[in-house]
Amino acid sequence: MPYNKDMKLYNTLTKTKENFTTVKPGIVHMYSCGPTVYYTAHIGNLRAYVCGDILKKTLRFNGYQIEDVMNITDVGHLVGDGDSGDDKVESTARKMGVHPLQIAKKYTDIFMNDLQRLNVTPAKHIVPATQCIDGMIELIKTLEAKGCTYRTSDGIYFDASTFPDYFQLSRGSLEGNIGGARIALGEKRNINDFALWKFVSPNTIQKWDSPWGVGCPGWHIECSAISMQHLPVPFDIHTGGVDHIPVHHTNEIAQTQTATGKKMCNFWFHNEFMTIDGGKMSKSLGNVYSLDDLVATGYDPMHLRLLMLQTIYHSVLNFTFTALNGAKENYRNIVTALRRHQASTNHTDAKIIAELRQAFTDAINNDLNTPMALAVLHQALKQPDSQDIYQLITTEFDQVLSLSLASATTSETQTTIPAEITALAEQRLAAKQARDWQTADEIRNKITAAGYQINDTVDGYTITKIN
Ligand code: AMP
Ligand code: ZN
Repeated sequence: MPYNKDMKLYNTLTKTKENFTTVKPGIVHMYSCGPTVYYTAHIGNLRAYVCGDILKKTLRFNGYQIEDVMNITDVGHLVGDGDSGDDKVESTARKMGVHPLQIAKKYTDIFMNDLQRLNVTPAKHIVPATQCIDGMIELIKTLEAKGCTYRTSDGIYFDASTFPDYFQLSRGSLEGNIGGARIALGEKRNINDFALWKFVSPNTIQKWDSPWGVGCPGWHIECSAISMQHLPVPFDIHTGGVDHIPVHHTNEIAQTQTATGKKMCNFWFHNEFMTIDGGKMSKSLGNVYSLDDLVATGYDPMHLRLLMLQTIYHSVLNFTFTALNGAKENYRNIVTALRRHQASTNHTDAKIIAELRQAFTDAINNDLNTPMALAVLHQALKQPDSQDIYQLITTEFDQVLSLSLASATTSETQTTIPAEITALAEQRLAAKQARDWQTADEIRNKITAAGYQINDTVDGYTITKIN
């Protein structure tokens, strides 16, 4: 299958925007760091997966085949900085009085459902860390045989001083090399050393036998082991949030490169953070929102996805409800304009369609410039009404944007609904927007009593006659 080689992508490893290439022509081997499943992902976490999805869909749009893997951290991620504290999943399970795998399952299911609602295509292989313990033990044995590990009273550690190019990824990055900076050295030989295997207390539930004693894996080893099991080395792209550059991804590289003697991955793709009201999201400030929180207040997942696409992935996205309302309005306008094009039997000059297609392709291929791609979409919508514009947007642009534009426009039209019912529906929408749920419910009851059913949709509602 032919594929387009004109894609540019910023690579954290080289700190430059490069021409994207793959090891194997036409196939992209890709790894994404998945969630630690002890809480409901917040919208900042979800930004990481929407950005990864735009990357994947742009690659597909360009004709590449994708082989991808994502881990699920269900063991090994400790509460404290670095290698201290309890395991996050185990500690939550203990508080709730359930098995850690029940916690992991609950939050994995919520996460997968959030991805689905945001139109994020899941990776082909989704691998929980607990399913790869043998692979991790083998990898630690290889590192041990190369003389790069040592034992302390609480585990087996990687000796970062044995890997001279330890700072290859974080060098020059804004975050700097803060690995372990706030942690006392203790028995560690070097500040950047990290745990490969941790010994655990007898009452720990998730623990395994190993050549070094009963314990559980460190956090970083899972991504090296899982990627080596499912992808060639080097593979093509590794994704994750910028917070992972100085420690987690740096340690993944140290492990894989030491064990294999090869570069781990050619392109490192990092999304910037989402802030809220100009600051950090934090539970104590009460500003940590999940997708469900937004849906409960009348937003559709597509409003959030559109908001995310309005900012390029490598810029900080500051979330505010004003901005989210703007995205909701923008979505409604797009769908309304698309309906006009859909209803038209006219055509657009093939040259104009080709120019719009090219402008869209150039935008996404320029390091995933989604704001520019959306500008092209609006430019297309401004063309005189035409079936060709409708097709171009819903069957081509939306392959990448994934805003459910075809289904949003084909939801039932309201021409046969009496004006007084439509007026009630508008009043109900206003009540919902004002979070006046009681009034909204009362109006819904009135509409039902009059013989009509109101269904909430991405861009508002549809009304159908009850037969
Ligand atoms: P975690 O479950 O903590 O490993 O985080 C899952 C993903 O979300 C990682 O790729 C993080 O880098 C990313 N992430 C965490 N917080 C934010 C944020 N505020 N904005 C964007 N990405 C984030
Ligand atoms: Zn990882």
